[in-house]
Amino acid sequence: MAPVAEYEAACLPELLPLYYRRLFPFSQYHRWLSYGGVTKNYFQNREFSFTLKDDIYVRYQSFSNQNELEKEIQKMNPYKIDIGAVYSHRPNQHNTVKSGTFQALEKELVFDIDMTDYDDVRRCCSSADICTKCWILMTIAIRIIDRALREDFGFRHLLWVYSGRRGVHCWVCDEAARKLSVAARSAVAEYLTLVKGGEETVKKVQLSDPVHPFIKESLAVVRRYFTDYALVGQDIMGSKESMDKVVALVPDEIRKDLVAALQAEKNPTKRWEKLKVIVQQKQASSKKSYYTEEEIMLQYCYPRLDVNVSKGVNHLLKSPFSVHPKTGRISVPIDLRELGQFNPFDVPTISLICKELDRPRTAEEEEASVRERDPDGGEQRKVRDYKRTSLAKYVKLFDQFVEEMERSRKGELLRRTDLQKDF
Ligand SMILES: [Zn+2]
Repeated sequence: MAPVAEYEAACLPELLPLYYRRLFPFSQYHRWLSYGGVTKNYFQNREFSFTLKDDIYVRYQSFSNQNELEKEIQKMNPYKIDIGAVYSHRPNQHNTVKSGTFQALEKELVFDIDMTDYDDVRRCCSSADICTKCWILMTIAIRIIDRALREDFGFRHLLWVYSGRRGVHCWVCDEAARKLSVAARSAVAEYLTLVKGGEETVKKVQLSDPVHPFIKESLAVVRRYFTDYALVGQDIMGSKESMDKVVALVPDEIRKDLVAALQAEKNPTKRWEKLKVIVQQKQASSKKSYYTEEEIMLQYCYPRLDVNVSKGVNHLLKSPFSVHPKTGRISVPIDLRELGQFNPFDVPTISLICKELDRPRTAEEEEASVRERDPDGGEQRKVRDYKRTSLAKYVKLFDQFVEEMERSRKGELLRRTDLQKDF
């Protein structure tokens, strides 16, 4: 059994030094952001920003190498770390370059999906609160966006990360994604956006003939979860209040029949079946196409992206392995092979992993530590430390991600060299 350690925000100043000294995966992190040394100064020109105690926000931090990054983070002990763009010059010298020449050049294509944007379609929680019932929305979002980015856009290196509180982030790390212009990023974000309009808009999804293949693929995902999420979990056909919201999404010419049918039926799942039947009947006697069922399903379940985060090259996003100061949970990568089992409440808090370090070593660990001991210490000791905590499986996942990217980059380099030879 893992030791239980409740997180208390007041302890953060004590825990952060320990976390950054013994647990943060600096080596993998630096390898990730160096991208195998693609371009000169790729790591050096990257912006980091820190949120310090009392919400003091420091932008334009940059570092020459892993050692400098490590030393600075250990000195500042940031409550939160954000990652920005790769600039034309070192961000920490941005004041010294001629104005107008300091520019954001590249960044991963990123997506930010936040549960607060779903408040009109979840009844279990609101604002910053989440539970396992509404977490299904994040599972659906990851499945839909991940499929589209891989199959429709051909991206391969996608890192999905739990934000630490109420959402998820996606970092698309392919070279082609990092080089996208603002216009191209906007186009990708628009392509992926289906739910439109703010609070005042009642009907947020409108489909038209013919339904785009991307929407068909997305619907296939939504169908897998709709009953579980909407009909059972949120019980959207259960009460008059929640049914009214559904009825409001139905075309005027159907509404009267639907209301009568729903009043006659008490079982929520059967009520939904009734709705489908009534729409089908209308469809049979009409030249117009009705996508009422699909539109309702999408409005309740389709991912809601914060497009502004995706559009800007210089937009900052919370870094993987940063701590969430409110929950204490670490922003950990999500294993898509086990996405259905991912539970945000199982994600380790900084208190838990720091406490795990105090556990007496097992005989096995003792032996491993003797084997790994080397004259210059440092790195080796850190390797052992995170391995002794619940952070281990997440660091391993991150490690595999970075390695896969390096492998494919080397493969690409070989291919290019071969092409040159043929030429
Ligand atoms: Zn909930």
